[in-house]
Amino acid sequence: MGKIFCKICGGRVPVLTKEEFSEYRIVYMDCVRSIKKYRVETGASVQEAAKLYAPALDKFEELTGFRGDDAFHLYRKHYAPTYGEPCHKCGDYFQTRIRQVCRNCGEPRLRN
Ligand SMILES: [Zn+2]
Ligand SMILES: [Zn+2]
Repeated sequence: MGKIFCKICGGRVPVLTKEEFSEYRIVYMDCVRSIKKYRVETGASVQEAAKLYAPALDKFEELTGFRGDDAFHLYRKHYAPTYGEPCHKCGDYFQTRIRQVCRNCGEPRLRN
C-alpha cells in the first residue's frame, strides 16, 4: 500500500489501490444515498448528517489502518492511480511531476 503526504489529513497517509478503492466506493456511495435520504426526511444540515459517513470511514480504516474524518476527501484524494508511479524503494507516491526525490525515503525518481 502506497502513501502520500496529505495536508488535509495532516501527515503521511495511505492511498487506496484500484481494488481497495472499488470496495471503498461502494460503501461511500451507500453513505451518500443514506445522507440524502436522511436530510430529506429530517431536514438535517450537512454537518448533522455527516455522522452517517461513519461506515465509509470504518471501511477506509479496515482497508488501510488509517482513521480519517472526512469521507468525501478520502474519496476524492486518496486514490493511488491518480498519483502515477510510486517510489520503487518505499512505495510512497511522488505526487507531483516536478518532485525528483522521494519525500519519504530520499530515493531519486527512476527515469523511464
Ligand atoms: Zn488526506
Ligand atoms: Zn521512497
